[in-house]
Amino acid sequence: SDLTETIDGLVRPIEDWPEPGVTFRDITPLLADPAALAAVMDGLVELAQQAGPIDAVLGIEARGFLFGPSVALRLDAGFVPVRKAGKLPATSLSTSYELEYGAAVLEMHVDALTPGARVLVVDDVLATGGTMLAAADLVQQAGATVAGNLVLIELLALGGQARLAPVGCASLRTY
Ligand code: 5GP
Repeated sequence: SDLTETIDGLVRPIEDWPEPGVTFRDITPLLADPAALAAVMDGLVELAQQAGPIDAVLGIEARGFLFGPSVALRLDAGFVPVRKAGKLPATSLSTSYELEYGAAVLEMHVDALTPGARVLVVDDVLATGGTMLAAADLVQQAGATVAGNLVLIELLALGGQARLAPVGCASLRTY
């Protein structure tokens, strides 16, 4: 499709970054292109609408912040930031998850979600799924429900989709 070609043309593979052997998908050229940015936002909103009614869009620091608020506006939903450890000012929920080397912590304000809220989790890229699972844990701790996960790009080789079953993760493009 046109959107697939747009993404393929403007997402730049960076070899051996951040470490040798890793190919990082750099979305900054896509963000910088006005028509591509609009088309990607339209595409994300279309996928978001397939998740049913959404009360809150949750964006994951940092690149989830680039897309989450725009999707939230179009869904008439609010936006909730999930941040790395120690960044949020008020009382927060916390969850720890495994990275390739060591562990990381994500946090969300304890009162950010209404219990029972249907939440859409947004990020730029799905790799192993560890980040999305950590966000789901925060949503569950808050007594809310993950109605959908949404990314621009899913990296198929890393198995994230299976780890997010049964909710799964919608994407605009897979590599
Ligand atoms: P996961 O937790 O699924 O293994 O990794 C996904 C997280 O790492 C996302 O927050 C995403 O921003 C980041 N990430 C991993 N690989 C890439 C990549 O190739 N490109 C971009 N833009 N982000 C990536």
